[in-house]
Amino acid sequence: MRRSARYGVGMSRNIFVLTGAGVSAESGLGTFRDTKGEGIWAKFDPMKLATPEAFARDPETVLAFYDARRRNLKSATPNAAHFALARLETALAAGGGALTLVTQNIDDLHERAGSRTVIHMHGELMKARCETCDGVGVWRDDLKPSQACPHCGFVGGLRPHVVWFGEMPFHMDEIDRALRRADLFVAIGTSGAVYPAAGFVAEARAFGVPTCEINLEAADNAYCFDDARYGPASEVVPAWVEELIGPA
Ligand code: NAD
Repeated sequence: MRRSARYGVGMSRNIFVLTGAGVSAESGLGTFRDTKGEGIWAKFDPMKLATPEAFARDPETVLAFYDARRRNLKSATPNAAHFALARLETALAAGGGALTLVTQNIDDLHERAGSRTVIHMHGELMKARCETCDGVGVWRDDLKPSQACPHCGFVGGLRPHVVWFGEMPFHMDEIDRALRRADLFVAIGTSGAVYPAAGFVAEARAFGVPTCEINLEAADNAYCFDDARYGPASEVVPAWVEELIGPA
């Protein structure tokens, strides 16, 4: 049975938002899985493109896949959902509260919409990391196996700074602390199929935090949420933010 989430104007000061590919779908970046079978992982095999083993076996193919996604991201622009979340961060901070924005997305559209603090638990497409020295830096161009690490000079160790299947997501301690102090948990545009992110709603509930899903269609873990709002993120997110903090 669904409990009614108790949130409204002036009531939620520490809001935890988890975003997934759905928040960037209307910016032209594909989602991973959908019910129509048109997601990125329906067209490409993640085991050949998004695992450390795939990179070790065939770095050219893996890097080319991320090069194409990086080029696509450069021509994408944030949509109304990204802008609304940036406005929410500013308003909560002005009132002495905080927005914790955790994204599974490797794009930078939240930042480009004005969000100042974004926790990228699956890494960032516009950064490269050296497997030899662990140095991380901004990388906006194509990546080639022949390129040297700008930090240590090693050739052949540069990879996209993203989390592949079988790797540990980033910032998990910080995320756990934020879940504990939240007074509302909202998941936006995520299918609830990839852990550990899919388990955050259960953690939030265990801490007594009301939970709400905003999605195009019900997530795999929809039954875990107290409340749900369905529709395109570019419409539903700005409407929800307006309910919380008033019109722009
Ligand atoms: P997903 O593709 O699994 O789900 C997308 C969700 O967005 C669905 O629930 C869909 O209904 C919804 N949606 C689609 N269009 C929407 C719209 N216009 N408005 C609102 N919602 C919309 O994406 P996910 O849940 O983010 O996937 C989990 C993560 O798995 C991904 O973010 C990705 O980071 C990840 N992953 C990727 C890699 C990689 O590429 N290296 C590796 C491991 C995991």
